Amino acid sequence: MYIMDNILDLKDLSFSYHSLSGETIALSHISFQVKKGEFLAIIGPSGCGKSTLLSLIAGLIELELGEIVFNGNLRIGYMLQHDHLLPWRTIYKNILLGPEINRTLTPEKEEYALKLLNDYGLYRFRNKRPGELSGGMKQRAALIRTMMMDPELLLLDEPFSALDYQTRLLVSADIGSIIKESKKTAILVTHDLSEAISLADRIIVLSKRPATIKSIYEIKLTKHEDGPLASRNAPEFQGYFKKLWEEFT
Ligand code: ADP
Ligand code: MG
Repeated sequence: MYIMDNILDLKDLSFSYHSLSGETIALSHISFQVKKGEFLAIIGPSGCGKSTLLSLIAGLIELELGEIVFNGNLRIGYMLQHDHLLPWRTIYKNILLGPEINRTLTPEKEEYALKLLNDYGLYRFRNKRPGELSGGMKQRAALIRTMMMDPELLLLDEPFSALDYQTRLLVSADIGSIIKESKKTAILVTHDLSEAISLADRIIVLSKRPATIKSIYEIKLTKHEDGPLASRNAPEFQGYFKKLWEEFT
């Protein structure tokens, strides 16, 4: 039997936006594969085409040139920079939104929502409204809402960039380990080098617009401790940072 361990195969993608003021070439000849269970980070300067790439994978915008091959019928979860929680709904009700809209809400789903709230440390806050939670907690609630649909592939578009620095360190490590433990495949778009190194198995570096693939790094960190900052304290961390930094300058 032929077993495909790539969950996703992007073949020679190019994409331009067309408007009255002309053409903006966003992506140029992008090809890469994503393995099942892999945590892939995509980094590149602001405006280079990172969100465009995720939108193409998510099917939010239509493919122009190239091909995207999925391994079967993938359930995709999408998480954005802003949590997009509905302010008038409680956290619990926000988390049930997806199944509610799809008319697939069952007592089992409600139970699963409560389990995730408990696992992710938000159970106590389930009846609060988003406005009563910290930025980090709201982002975690947004992750639970995404996880409710049991996605096989998670697309994360700068999900931590609205958070202040310290919260960002903790929440990114926190959400990173949740994703790894649940063995999901994830593509994280970020312009934060440290975030990419600390979370990813592999990093794809994009050039300035139009985005092309500049280089690809396999990340292997030796951790001598536990806790959210362990991967940032790994001996290899600085070396990767230096190399990636040089790519940007
Ligand atoms: P990034 O996420 O890396 O910051 P984007 O993928 O959002 O970059 O955008 C890439 C380029 O395409 C930018 O120059 C942006 O201004 C342009 N762009 C993005 N969305 C649109 C759109 N809907 N119409 C026209 N141009 C767009
Ligand atoms: Mg973007």
